[in-house]
Amino acid sequence: MTGAENPLRSLDDWDDDVLRRYPEDREPGNAKQTEEFRSYGDAPDHVREFYCLNHRQQTVKVNRQKRDEFLPLKKRRMSIWEAMEFLNTLVDDSDPDTNLSQIEHLLQTAEAIRADGHPPWFVLIGLIHDLGKILCLFDEPQWCVTGDTFPVGCRFDSSIVYHDSFFENPDFGNPEYNSEFGIYEPNCGLRNVMLSWGHDEYMFNVCKEYLPEEGLAMIRYHSFYPWHSEGAYRHLMDEHDHKMLEYVKLFNPYDLYSKSDDPPDVEQLRPFYEALIAEFFPTKIAW
Ligand code: FE
Ligand code: FE
Repeated sequence: MTGAENPLRSLDDWDDDVLRRYPEDREPGNAKQTEEFRSYGDAPDHVREFYCLNHRQQTVKVNRQKRDEFLPLKKRRMSIWEAMEFLNTLVDDSDPDTNLSQIEHLLQTAEAIRADGHPPWFVLIGLIHDLGKILCLFDEPQWCVTGDTFPVGCRFDSSIVYHDSFFENPDFGNPEYNSEFGIYEPNCGLRNVMLSWGHDEYMFNVCKEYLPEEGLAMIRYHSFYPWHSEGAYRHLMDEHDHKMLEYVKLFNPYDLYSKSDDPPDVEQLRPFYEALIAEFFPTKIAW
């Protein structure tokens, strides 16, 4: 998994870096604190390298190619639980003290949502939100799977982490794509905006027939930090997106702050979650 195209030792390196940028005690909306945390100097070199690869290569053209390749969902048919086990085979090469397996992160997120008494569909979102990372197992490089997401086809907002690395993106100098609206209309709605390709957009498409729209928004936008945590791209939102933003914000802390060193008991929890999955999904779905 490592190498020039895959600088992260583990996909979790990106998640850990998000946690560094958005520590739990950060007061939402506190501009001064936000500025302080926006000094990204501390990210390790391999994480910086990852952002550079992502920003250089997430173009309109690449995004269209990825959508054409993956969104027909012709790669596999498998159940949600099979996908969880498949994702768990993603072994993190050189990280000897890898904290949590992928299944453990999913279960911890779901259990935290359940403990707060949220409805079943919301608990299920916690369980499945990262399953799009199976893209890695189809040999996709890390920069096509994870990372903060952002719209392509219009100007890259300055709030995106390591914004300066967009200079190397071919779309950066393209007048069709580098204005405020680019290829989009004002307030066209995020559903009409192409976000950079990764596990969010893929998983949204895998699930879109089966889940309520609030849950689908949580999956589709959970890595869209410039939007849900930095307040950018308001000019592309429609009224529906404003409602969905509240749900995405509600989900975010469960993803970021539910990690504990106390691993959940997978086999003990499995019957409950298999039943929950069966409430919403057929046995096998298309991936
Ligand atoms: Fe994720
Ligand atoms: Fe996650």
